[in-house]
Formats: sequence, structure tokens, C-alpha cells
Amino acid sequence: MRTDTGQVFKLEDYRPNDYLIPETSLTFRLSPEATRVIAVLTIERRDGVAALVPLLLDGDGLTLIRVAIDGHELAPADFLATPDQLTILQPPATTRFQLLIETELAPARNEALMGLYRSSNVYCTQCEAEGFRRITYFLDRPDILSVYTVRIEAKRDEAPLLLSNGNPADSGALADGWHYAGWHDPFPKPSYLFALVAGALGKLADSFVTMSGRTVELGIYVEPGKERLAGYAMDALKRSMQWDEEAFGREYDLDVFNIVAVSDFNMGAMENKGLNIFNDKYVLADQETATDADFANIEAIIAHEYFHNWTGNRITCRDWFQLCLKEGLTVFRDHEFSADQRSRAVKRIAEVRTLRAHQFPEDQGPLAHPVRPRRYREINNFYTATVYEKGSEVVRMIRTILGAETFRAGMDLYFERHDGEAATIEDFVKVFEDVSGRDLSQFSLWYHQAGTPNLTVSSTHNASAQEFTLEIEQSVPPTPSESRKRLMHIPLAFGLVGAGGKPVAWRGVEGAVVEDGVIHIRKRRHMVRFSGVAERPAVSLNRGFSAPITLSVEQRADDQFFLAAHDSDAFSRWQAFNTLLTDALIAAFRQTLGGKQTEFTARLTGLAGKIAGDETLEPAYRALALALPGESDIARDIGKSIDPDAIFSGREALALAIAKANRDTFASLYDRLADDGPFSPDAASAGRRALRNTLLDYLALLPGGATLAAEHFRAATNMTDRAAALTVLAHRHHGAPEAVKALADFEAKYGSDALVMDKWFQIQASVPGPQTVYAVRALTSHPAFSMANPNRVRSLIGTFSSANQTGFHRADGEGYRFFSQTVLEVEKRNPQVAARLATALRSWRALEPGRQAKAREALLAIAGAENLSADLRDIVERTLA
Ligand SMILES: [Zn+2]
Repeated sequence: MRTDTGQVFKLEDYRPNDYLIPETSLTFRLSPEATRVIAVLTIERRDGVAALVPLLLDGDGLTLIRVAIDGHELAPADFLATPDQLTILQPPATTRFQLLIETELAPARNEALMGLYRSSNVYCTQCEAEGFRRITYFLDRPDILSVYTVRIEAKRDEAPLLLSNGNPADSGALADGWHYAGWHDPFPKPSYLFALVAGALGKLADSFVTMSGRTVELGIYVEPGKERLAGYAMDALKRSMQWDEEAFGREYDLDVFNIVAVSDFNMGAMENKGLNIFNDKYVLADQETATDADFANIEAIIAHEYFHNWTGNRITCRDWFQLCLKEGLTVFRDHEFSADQRSRAVKRIAEVRTLRAHQFPEDQGPLAHPVRPRRYREINNFYTATVYEKGSEVVRMIRTILGAETFRAGMDLYFERHDGEAATIEDFVKVFEDVSGRDLSQFSLWYHQAGTPNLTVSSTHNASAQEFTLEIEQSVPPTPSESRKRLMHIPLAFGLVGAGGKPVAWRGVEGAVVEDGVIHIRKRRHMVRFSGVAERPAVSLNRGFSAPITLSVEQRADDQFFLAAHDSDAFSRWQAFNTLLTDALIAAFRQTLGGKQTEFTARLTGLAGKIAGDETLEPAYRALALALPGESDIARDIGKSIDPDAIFSGREALALAIAKANRDTFASLYDRLADDGPFSPDAASAGRRALRNTLLDYLALLPGGATLAAEHFRAATNMTDRAAALTVLAHRHHGAPEAVKALADFEAKYGSDALVMDKWFQIQASVPGPQTVYAVRALTSHPAFSMANPNRVRSLIGTFSSANQTGFHRADGEGYRFFSQTVLEVEKRNPQVAARLATALRSWRALEPGRQAKAREALLAIAGAENLSADLRDIVERTLA
């Protein structure tokens, strides 16, 4: 574990290394406690660099056995070795030489899950961002591209399967029951994409014929006996390969493509060239054990990692500041894939909900940073919603501005111009400038400036002049170390909506460039005048969420109700209803509506009933519309002096009002949606289940609700329905005999299935109310729980701290105290997972003063702990700053 050195890495300090490593040959002799790694590196001095410049290689906790250059072992005086660095003091004067380094590792004792480690007796690796330096000394930075040849040796009975990147080479038997396998990857790659897997695994095999007619052998490796559960992942992989050919013209390039599922994994999955390694939760699924959300996640993540083969692997990042170059772009690509496989409108709403729930609070708090950061202390902490989700939104805006065809031409040019290179955001933006002839310099601020821009909009209609005017003003709030902001280029998609939801035409427009339904906001203030508009329209703004911004719109409630019923843009229609719900919840929190509340609520509950029963809308869409804004969404919109208990009460009251007002509509729809056919994970079937389970959540609030939910639980034929009913019972009827029985039945049935038990932990960790902290503390001693496994920790501790507003933010600070102790306990094993957990308090300054003080104490307790890792110190210190 690296402790904090306090070193800050800055974008402006980038310079190419003096040396290159064009070829890397690695031999592993695997053993749990003493694995030997022999790395033979072809080192090349870069043109123009003076001879004899010392060569500095990165390490992290390494034990060096020997070093040799061109076959001659180095004497101790010729090099300096610490666990974290190897310096060759006087490299040969030749421009090219061979450096041999032998190191020894103990994968069985590697609990940080970075570098080479063991998970359920399987050797595997995780090298992004800086894990390769835990295997051997190397120039462990993404602009060092190398061709890798790998040989793995292991005891055959311990590891019958030996995998690495690229294509398989030779293999065979060795003495004493050992065997070996060779792999060669012809595509130069950075060290973070290196991977090795060895162990006894089951295989699901298939193949794919690419657009040029080459056959690629596909393999998904899982725990033996679970091959059947990889079927959906395999199907998603083949659809991804097909889609990337059709949508982006990208063909797969090796003879084999392998995926391995492991049970101990810090992230979701990793795109190592030709050998993706996955958290098993994103591979294994069937109707008995996985929910519809799990199926959708598997599809999206399989696609995401596969798409990295071009956006990330063939074209990689020059340095870690460019992380969004691969991540934002690849998230955009997987979003488009899912939109094509499922419902575009539903997918977009879900994306925006995720962005607002995770990226907006990040952008509005102490951890705010630009999509392309300029400095970091620990790169592991920059795998953030800003880099991924906002990074994807920025790519989407480029497409909105240029149009789909020009965007595709830009992508083609990007692949053509930068294939085989380590590129930058500037390179990426340049291809779009080159194909379109447009100047995107103001637009590029989306990459360089943190904070969520806000647009204030008001409208006036002059009937006699037949003129409709939008007054739009932009502002970007200050963020840490960026107090003054520059004006952004914001593509604001919009529509003027007239009677019956018909678009309103206009004769002319002035005050801003308006093209293809988009107003281009570039100045602080625009007066956008539409002429020839006889009737006052309702204005639908930021259609399709064309820009990741917040809107402050002076708009009559009548217009919102009208748009919620009639907007032809599905996203904006959902948005209008969601805004009305949010307004009602904020008014309940502030107790500002008084007598008007009843009338407003009545209109709202009436509209909820209409949406629920509107057969012209997809069930999945209706389910999303009926889901009330989350407690943390409401808190974010309120912004300060947050009392989570008051938000919770207001939300419960509105839910009850909606349930009471629509009892009959909801009940009959609930009955009609009862599942009749065989299970299918497709989007339409999942949508029907989602709507029915949303209705259950409302109906469970009414008398007889516990019985209804218990029956739903009993009759469930798939995990989606079973988990939904269990959630309703545990949350709405906490402590009731029906809830207690269902939790016990679930545990009895799935106690030995770790991934399913994660749901059981999650459901209990998110039970609202002050008592949950004790339940969660007790569950840390449950036999199915382990502090060493990231999935378990995220299910129980992560859910409690990030998705349980009333439980975690208990007024007396007990939730925070439990949290700080647990974060420090996790950190002893796995600093990366601990640092991620610690971000749960990033919005602490928005709390009311009492909770704020207690949250600060908890953060200080973490910050004051001895030997804090770089990962965790970075997060707590920035959060407290
Ligand atoms: Zn990725």
C-alpha cells in the first residue's frame, strides 16, 4: 500500500519520457506466496536524448531479485532499488538495450486487488491505473506503448487455464506437474492494459464472424458450474461486436476475445486487450438470480469494455489527465448501443437521472473537477461521474452541434489519424473542427472548466407584435480553485409548443444562432426574439437533455402541466412532470404552499393517474415517470440546510396522496400487468415488470399493503419481482411479520449465493429510519458478509452511506460514527474501495448545522488516522477543504 507522499501531479508538467519500451517480454512462474516475474524490456533512448541519462522505472511495494543489462548482471553500485523505484544510474550508451528485471510477488496476500492477486483461487490482475508497477518495475504510464509477449508457468492442477492478452502462442508440459502457455499481442499497448488470468475455470465458448469475414473465437470464463449463467453476457457481446461495425465501422482485430468473471474486483470491469476481466456481478445472470436492472447493466458493461478496444486500446490516453478521452467517449458509445437495443427515450431518462444523482452533487461540492482535470494526487480517485458521465454528455453535445453525419465523419478521422497513438483531448476536438470547419474553442471549456452551468430563462409574448421573446442568461458557479468562470457554448434544444402539443412555427429569429431546434448560447445574455408567433406557446427547454445544465425557468404551473401531458419530446414530457413533483416536494419541505397545496397536489395526483393508465406510453416510461424524485435529488435541489427527515416525511406524504387518489386505477392496472408468459429479459417485458412493481410500491402504502406485497413476493417467478416485493416489505412495513418472514425466506433460499445475498444486504441497508445503523452494524458479522470483498462492502456499507438518507444522516451522528470506523477498517485492506466509500460525505456542507458539525467530526476522525493511504487522504482532505 502506498502511503501519501503529498505529491501533486500537474497536467502542465507533462513531458515525454527519455526512454521508450517498444518490446516487453514477461515470464511468470506462479505461486500464491512467491511468484517470480522475469521482465525483459527492450529499452530505447528517445531521439535527441543524451546518452547516459539515468533510467527511472516505477515500482510499488516490489521485492527485487536481480537486474541485468544485455545479459550482464548489474552490481549493486550500478543501480538504486527501493520498493517504489528502480534507477539505472548509467544505462549503456547504445540507443537500444535489453533490461532484465526479476521480482517476487505474493499474490495471495494482495488484498488491495491491484497488480497480481488471487480471487477464489484464481490468479488475476488489475493494472489500471497504476497496478502494473506492483508486478515489475516499468515506465508505468499510458504513453509508453509496447508489444507484449507473455509466458505463464503454473502447476497444472492448480491452474489448468493460463490466459493473457493477444493471441495464443505455444503451450505444453513442464517437469513436476507444471505446464506453460505463451501469448503474443501484436498491438502495442500501455502497461495498464496488461492482464493475466490463471486457475480452474469453466468456459462458455462461441464465435463471431467480423464484417471482413474473419472468425473470432469468443470465450467467457466463470467459476466451474456457472457457465450457463454467462449466456446473456455472451449474447450481449455478440450484439456489441455487430453494433460497433454498423454504428462506427469498427472491426475486432485479434483471433480471440476472452472475458473472465472474478468475484473480488475493485471496479465493474476492465478492458485489457483481448482479455477483459469482469466483476462477476456484471457477467452472471438468469431470471432466478438477476433483476432486469442486472441484465441491463451486464449488456451495457459488456458493450462498454468491448468498445474500449478502439476507444481506449487502439487509441489510448497520453496521460491520466486524458482519462475522459477513453471513458467519456466509451460511455457515450455504450449509451448509444443500449438506446438502440432498448427504448431511446427510456434510456435517456435513466441516463439523466444517473447523471443528476451522481455527477451534479460532485460538480456542486468540494470534489468538483473539470472533465479533464489539471491536477491530482491520486489518479484512482478520478474515476468519477464527472469524467465518465459528464464526459459522455460532452461528446453527445459535439454530435448535437455538428449533426450525426459530420460527427461520424469526425470519429472516422479520429480512428484514422490516431490509431496506435496515445492521444489528448485536443487531438479529439481537432478532428471535429477539421471535418466541420467550425471553431470549437469556446465549446472546449466543457472539458476544462468544472461546475454545472445554469441558465435562467424567462419568456414574454407580445400578441399585437406577434413576437415571442426568450431572455436567457448563463452563469457557472464557482468551484474549488476556479472562482472566475468563462462563458460557455451551450447547445440548448428547445420547442415552442402550441395547442394540442403541436409545434408552433415562427417566421424569423434574432438574438442567437438557432439551427435544427437548437439555440446556441455563447454569451452571458441572449434576447432571442421569434417573430410571426400569434399565440403564446409553452416553451419546452433542454429537450433530450441537450446540455448537462440546470435551468431556472420562470414558468407558469399551467404550462408545466400542459407540457407534462402534451410535449412531443418524450424526455421533456417526463421532465415537466418530474419538475412538478419536485416543486411539490420542495414546497412540502419549506411548508410554503399552504392552502394552495391541496389544489396543486390534486392536479398532480390526477396527472399521475393519467400517465399510469396512458396505453400510448411504454410501460417502462410510465414506471420512470411515476417514480418520485429521490430524497437526495430533492436535497440537491433545495441546496442548503438539509434535514433528511423532513424531506422523507414530505415524500412519503406525496406518495400516499398519489396512492389514495389512484387506488382503483393502480390496482386494476397492477392486476392486468400480472406476468403470464415465460420470462424474457427484453426491454419490453422488463418495462412491464417495472411498471407493476412501481404500482406495488404505491399500493403497499394503503390498507392491506403488507399482505399484497407478501403475496407478490410469494408468487414471484423471477428475481426482479422478488427483490421488488422484498424492498417494499422491508421499507414500507419494516418489522411487520410479513417483512420478517420474507427476509428470512430470502436468506434461507439464497444464503450460499454471494451475488444474490448482496441484494439482501442492500435492501436492509436502505431501510429508512434511525434504527438501520444498528441493523447494518450487526450485518457486518453475517457469515455471507466480508470486509475484504468489494461487492459485499458496497452492498452493505456503500448502500447505507450513499442511498439511505434518513439512516445515514441520523441527527445524533451515529450513522457517521459507524461510517468513519468502517471506512478505516476497509482501508487497511483496500484503500481504493475505502476512498470511494468516503465520498458519501461530499455534500456535508449542505446539511443543517447540527448534522454538519457531526459529519465534520467523522471526516476529521478519518483524516486524523495514522498512516492514511494516498487514496483516502486525498478524498477526505479535499472534502474538508
Ligand atoms: Zn471504461
